[in-house]
Amino acid sequence: MELQNKLAILADAAKYDASCSSSGSARRDAARGGIGSTEGMGICHSYTPDGRCISLLKILLTNFCIYDCKYCINRVSSNIPRARFAVAEVVDLTLDFYRRNCIEGLFLSSGIIRSSNYTMEQLVGVARSLRLDHGFKGYIHLKTIPDADPQLLAEAGLYADRLSINIELPTVQGLAQLAPEKNSATIQQAMGQLHDHIATAKAERQDARKASVISMPRSRRTRPTAPQAFAPGGQSTQMIVGADGADDGDIIVTSAKLYTGFRLRRVYYSAFSPIPDATADLPLIAPPLVREHRLYQADWLMRFYGFEAHEIVPAGAQGKRMLSLEHDPKLAWALAHRERFPVNLNTAPREMLLRVPGLGVRSVDKLLAVRRWRQLRSADIEQLRVPMDKLLPFVECQGWSPGRSLDDPLLAAKLVQPMAPRPVQASLF
Ligand code: SF4
Repeated sequence: MELQNKLAILADAAKYDASCSSSGSARRDAARGGIGSTEGMGICHSYTPDGRCISLLKILLTNFCIYDCKYCINRVSSNIPRARFAVAEVVDLTLDFYRRNCIEGLFLSSGIIRSSNYTMEQLVGVARSLRLDHGFKGYIHLKTIPDADPQLLAEAGLYADRLSINIELPTVQGLAQLAPEKNSATIQQAMGQLHDHIATAKAERQDARKASVISMPRSRRTRPTAPQAFAPGGQSTQMIVGADGADDGDIIVTSAKLYTGFRLRRVYYSAFSPIPDATADLPLIAPPLVREHRLYQADWLMRFYGFEAHEIVPAGAQGKRMLSLEHDPKLAWALAHRERFPVNLNTAPREMLLRVPGLGVRSVDKLLAVRRWRQLRSADIEQLRVPMDKLLPFVECQGWSPGRSLDDPLLAAKLVQPMAPRPVQASLF
């Protein structure tokens, strides 16, 4: 098969992997004439540890797979065109795109061929060849296979900037039902191994940076060579949303455990997309995209806003704990805890300011900076670029008081955030 065709198949197959973000824009469509579409598969965008947005060649090594995960288009029983790259082909493609300035790195995943070890050896082979044979300094994100030999996982971390292992589904029961060949304990064990390697390498490098040796009197201070980094971008994972019966409570609690247990950099949530010839165990329609969006917002609250999982998980019976689609999770929390508001912008601690709907981390830091010199006034709030309708009922400061608006029984209805898709003119043809 021609390289071009393989690329088309294996870049398209990789689009189901959400473990790196994409920022394609529907406004530029190369298919309708012109060049420059950023929506097609093949190149995605991700963020480096220092916050830079980079373009990655996002492909599968192969979409052949010996497993039969029911939610996956690449499962062995799926009737789709298949293709497979050789290690050298992926290396050449990456270098070629890199030299043409199209990409700054590689995101490589794969279906499982022959065995987990064989597949992982191929993935590591690509990263090894790029780093050692070609001196490739770009970003590499490798999707790793949890039941592969720990030695291979350990070697992968020496070449990759980031490693990820998919947790796949939020609950053990969901995984057993939809991906019976996968094992939740094995996945978590592999995550634990990566976590230990990452933590050890980080500690060793910090020690080496601090250490200095004086070799001779009056000689220059020399430092020992720093130990090799291990996946300096950390590890991430992906969870499929809406393929099994897990509710948002299950998803948030599982994410919280992954963040605290394995210090993951990111949990990516991927709304399940219905696939052809799916089994009856799977839903016929995709969950609303806004559900995925709400989960990312909840995730953000846990990582940057000091919320605990149990504060975000909606009350209710197991299976029914769904985040509000009408209000973002912070607003939903504030509406359910009105007794903690209004928050005085001049006296509240940072932790409480971060809980005010509409205030992000940057806005809070701005307010704190101004507050060191003088009292905050209503004019200061107006200068913040934040949604005022969300903010004003929950704060007070010099010149502004929300009065009795928090007691308004219609407040929740007034603050509904519609997230339906924009209306589109119906086509006549
Ligand atoms: S192992 Fe991965 S590629 Fe293979 S069927 Fe399962 S999810 Fe799909």
